[in-house]
Amino acid sequence: MEAFWCACLLLPKGVIRTIEKACRQFLWGSESQCRMIFFSWKKKVCRKRSQGGFDIREILSWNKTLLLRFFLKYYTHSPSLWIAWSKEYVFKNLSCWDLDADTCISPIWQKILHIRDEFADRVGSRAAAQALFLSWSASGVLPLQDVYKIFHGFHPELRWVKPLLDNIVVPKHAVIATLAAHQALATVDNLCKRGLVLVNRCSLCCADAESVRHLFFQCPFSRDLLQQVLVWQGVTRGVLSLKHELYKLALCRGTKWRRKVACCALAATIYYIWQERNRRVFDGGHLGVGKLLAMIKYDVCVRMYSCSNGVVVSQLLSM
Ligand SMILES: [Zn+2]
Repeated sequence: MEAFWCACLLLPKGVIRTIEKACRQFLWGSESQCRMIFFSWKKKVCRKRSQGGFDIREILSWNKTLLLRFFLKYYTHSPSLWIAWSKEYVFKNLSCWDLDADTCISPIWQKILHIRDEFADRVGSRAAAQALFLSWSASGVLPLQDVYKIFHGFHPELRWVKPLLDNIVVPKHAVIATLAAHQALATVDNLCKRGLVLVNRCSLCCADAESVRHLFFQCPFSRDLLQQVLVWQGVTRGVLSLKHELYKLALCRGTKWRRKVACCALAATIYYIWQERNRRVFDGGHLGVGKLLAMIKYDVCVRMYSCSNGVVVSQLLSM
């Protein structure tokens, strides 16, 4: 429904805010839970997965992209009654680049012309925009993804995200690992910055202040868990920080299945550490390193079995 209306008219800002609020609540939970996520919707969530986001389309930029198709239709003299009416009564024989948006008599064209001007600003100049439309006029088709990128902005690809993009990684593990890598989890230090919690103490080791950096993996509890996960995979090196672990995996040149196991195991470790932290904070219960290690091994074996074959799983179980 949203995609249909995005292609018809410029959505009011209030409507866009309401849709984004509904999407936020679907992803994170209730409004109070959304406030616990330190992850900007427009700047982070709406980026591509390879850029560290969750690949959700930003509505306003997508809305402008779809509306710019009307401008291309006018530009290419598309045979339609609305275009013919626009030429006669709105543009009055002016070129589509010459009519000023503020003096336009049609409210919908006024908005489209403002989008045209914004597009020209974003590509650098009106001449550059005209050159792009000239190249698109031959096919008469607007390259939606390219235009969306122009409105939404270009963002660099992040190398550390690569291990989390592997299809072997459980999606909910990838989400928590991405939030952790962005330091966006509701750790006590993040809550302290918002004045929500006053005492900062790690619930896993009860010895140090809690932060994403501490949980992954300066905390003795999480360090011990990851160390045992690495030993299970036959890795003998020590534990690094979260970002360094992800970078190391992104640059890993081992066999395909070893790399898959490592990606799946690291994401599962991050997920179960966060789950254990929440269990201790909210439920008062706790699980030991041995139990968490068994859960991580189980998840990795199930994923490997479903995505590859039983040979790899039998090798993992014998390690
Ligand atoms: Zn700790």
